[in-house]
Amino acid sequence: MCLIVQLYHPGTEFSGFHCNRNTIHLQCQACGGMMPSRVDIGVPQHCLGCDRVFCGAYWHAQGVSRSDSHSICNHDNFEPISERAVSRIPFLAHEKNRHEQDITERCIRQTGKTLQDVISDWIGKLSNREIDRTRMPLNHAEMITVGTHVCNDCYEKLISFLLYWFRISMPKYLLPPEAANREDCWYGYACRTQHHNEDHARKRNHVCRPTRGNHA
Ligand SMILES: [Zn+2]
Ligand SMILES: [Zn+2]
Ligand SMILES: [Zn+2]
Ligand SMILES: [Zn+2]
Repeated sequence: MCLIVQLYHPGTEFSGFHCNRNTIHLQCQACGGMMPSRVDIGVPQHCLGCDRVFCGAYWHAQGVSRSDSHSICNHDNFEPISERAVSRIPFLAHEKNRHEQDITERCIRQTGKTLQDVISDWIGKLSNREIDRTRMPLNHAEMITVGTHVCNDCYEKLISFLLYWFRISMPKYLLPPEAANREDCWYGYACRTQHHNEDHARKRNHVCRPTRGNHA
């Protein structure tokens, strides 16, 4: 199965662990590579946010960074939240409404901070339990801390969730004028019209709680 051990450390003991016929293997959801299932080593092999298998932290902990014959993830595909970096607003943010993403980008620029600064601030608030996690789109939301390893998809979901809080807690006078003058859509973030009607998506604020419909 995962013969990387022998390939990269020929003839050496490898963390005292060798696969045998009874070893259960897990398949990484990012690279498709296999790794032995290890419950005793304190290194996560599943993403807490989605319960899927990822190999990056495991091989990193084993000191293996690449293999010519086996798939291995780069360790930054599966890292603790505190060690991750964000460079752009995720495609998923604000229910994929790019007008709202654009407003958020301008709000951040106006504060003089980088996206990374803003996210770091909000991760701090999340850690201090200043944010209601009810709408956090990750599994085990209550268990997640800055030290939790998450996959790329879950990290983007987390960033999107934090950007919602950044926007919803921002006083209206700090929004760009044309954004501040918009009325809230009754259906808020849950509005479906924003996905197929550009005009509506732009003219109403959708970073708000629904006051009508199923989510109200
Ligand atoms: Zn193996
Ligand atoms: Zn995940
Ligand atoms: Zn992998
Ligand atoms: Zn709407």
